Amino acid sequence: MKIILLGPPGAGKGTQAAMLMERFGIPQISTGDMLRAAVQTQSSLGVKAKKIMDAGGLVPDDIVVGIVHDRLQFEDCQKGFILDGFPRTLAQADSLKQVLAELDKPLDAVVSLQVDIDALVARLTGRRTCVDCGKGFHLQYDPPTQDGLCSVCGGRLILRDDDREETIRNRMKIYQEQTAPLEDYYRAEGLLIDVDGMADISTVQQAIVMALSGSLS
Ligand code: AMP
Repeated sequence: MKIILLGPPGAGKGTQAAMLMERFGIPQISTGDMLRAAVQTQSSLGVKAKKIMDAGGLVPDDIVVGIVHDRLQFEDCQKGFILDGFPRTLAQADSLKQVLAELDKPLDAVVSLQVDIDALVARLTGRRTCVDCGKGFHLQYDPPTQDGLCSVCGGRLILRDDDREETIRNRMKIYQEQTAPLEDYYRAEGLLIDVDGMADISTVQQAIVMALSGSLS
């Protein structure tokens, strides 16, 4: 199964992708996670990306397209993949189309999580991320078992710079301007599935799985 999860920051793409990965045994490909890994290693790409990410901007298309192009050729993508946070612009969607045609891996579906922007701002400011393993928590919806500490590895939980309120507002604006047009792009290709992203995590997951089974049958 080859799918894209589409939705604004905080819509729950990462959480849903991780659950789909377990269920279907296919990798979650998150450009945000890969860029954060580059930031951690302080590679030249990481140093360049950090400034843009901290301000809530978009890393240049050629960089993210290159990262995804390389990642899709790994052995674990044979059975499929879940793209999370990519594509984010029409140019990225066009490049992805070319890459997938080259690899003969056409998309099965694009799941679009429908959410309310004000609720998202609240969701994002409550997010906490483990400095060591990158696992995400939410103070209200998915709290860690011990305050301030990762339930998986015990690492310290932090508020990501790009989850601060003014950065979030900028990210939402960029989403509306650059990423939201992808809904029409994929609707025109007959791939778009709308799912209500405001329900609780497991209800959203069920809705996605049901919609996917419909689109694959
Ligand atoms: P995310 O974890 O998906 O919210 O991504 C965090 C940040 O990484 C974004 O705010 C962007 O600065 C950058 N980023 C992630 N994916 C992309 C992408 N497909 N295109 C451009 N920038 C991206």
